[in-house]
Amino acid sequence: MTDRIARARSAMSSKGVDLLAVAPSDDLRYLLGFSPTADERPCMLLVGADRELFVVPSLNAEQARAAVPDVELSTWADEEGADSALGAAVAALGRPRRVAVDATMRADFLLLLRRFVADAELTTAAVVVGELRLRKDAAELEALGASARSADTAMEAALAACAAGARELVIAEAAASGFRRAGCEDVLFTSVASGPNGGFPHHHSSARELQPGDGVTIDIGGRLAGYPSDLTRTAHVGEPSERYAQVHAVVEEAVQAGLAAARPGATCGSVDLAAREVIAAAGFGDYFVHRTGHGLGVSGHEPPWIMAGDERRLEPGMVFSIEPGIYVPNEFGVRLEEIVVLEEHRARILSTLPRNLTIV
Ligand code: ZN
Ligand code: ZN
Repeated sequence: MTDRIARARSAMSSKGVDLLAVAPSDDLRYLLGFSPTADERPCMLLVGADRELFVVPSLNAEQARAAVPDVELSTWADEEGADSALGAAVAALGRPRRVAVDATMRADFLLLLRRFVADAELTTAAVVVGELRLRKDAAELEALGASARSADTAMEAALAACAAGARELVIAEAAASGFRRAGCEDVLFTSVASGPNGGFPHHHSSARELQPGDGVTIDIGGRLAGYPSDLTRTAHVGEPSERYAQVHAVVEEAVQAGLAAARPGATCGSVDLAAREVIAAAGFGDYFVHRTGHGLGVSGHEPPWIMAGDERRLEPGMVFSIEPGIYVPNEFGVRLEEIVVLEEHRARILSTLPRNLTIV
């Protein structure tokens, strides 16, 4: 983890940032492998040019000491408040001219910090930490692979729970227990969209019971050892109609086109276009209402964004989703989603599950 702070520091110097301030967040989890409980007590890691200080409320000090023994702590107690500890920490790191703060920092933390860096220019930590997070290291790739396998387990449980008469919520629950069985610390989302509910890309699982003739889109994610998963597969109650089967085949072809286009050096926009053209050529272009994918790392959604017009070039070590979909309002929807890691010559899929339609 100290290696990540060192890399953040070198990014800071190339971006002219003198101080990096990171409150409990995915950025902090990335830098330290640890993010304390986020509450109203000011807490932030301050990284200066040659030293870092972790300002933490004293009730969490022992936990922080155990989690990050190499990082110097500056603690404050409830009865004294955070002001003097934070002010002293900023002063100890030198008077900054340009400060990068994590984008999800609470406004009250930021306003407090602002008092001690009143003359500095503020920017977001995306310019420092965001760039590092784009390219996953070996430990992250291993963690994302393990997390993807837990999603496979959860998806198999959800597919096994699909049957005429089963409620969406009960299928969602089967996925959630699959994640728990696989050792996940969090179940992030379990979306089961049956029949016409499939027409909503972000449906919340409901009490609706599956009926013969329903297509079912299942999109699930959990968190294992700090890293999220994200996987979408489909089931159908009985044999699908010709129209559903056609739409499913078009979405599958779009996934394959996206996978084939995802090569080092390709732009994010070109991967989106490859998937989108397949769907447009089949006449369903108006029903593909979202970008083709998003990055996945310590956050479930993060750069790179696989979307129209995005000129960022893909590089080995990037991890992102390819998840085209077709949503026919009031009828049904189909989405298929893979998380891939970009290697030297290809995009490698993390899931081991086939994408075929599971008939129940
Ligand atoms: Zn996704
Ligand atoms: Zn998803």
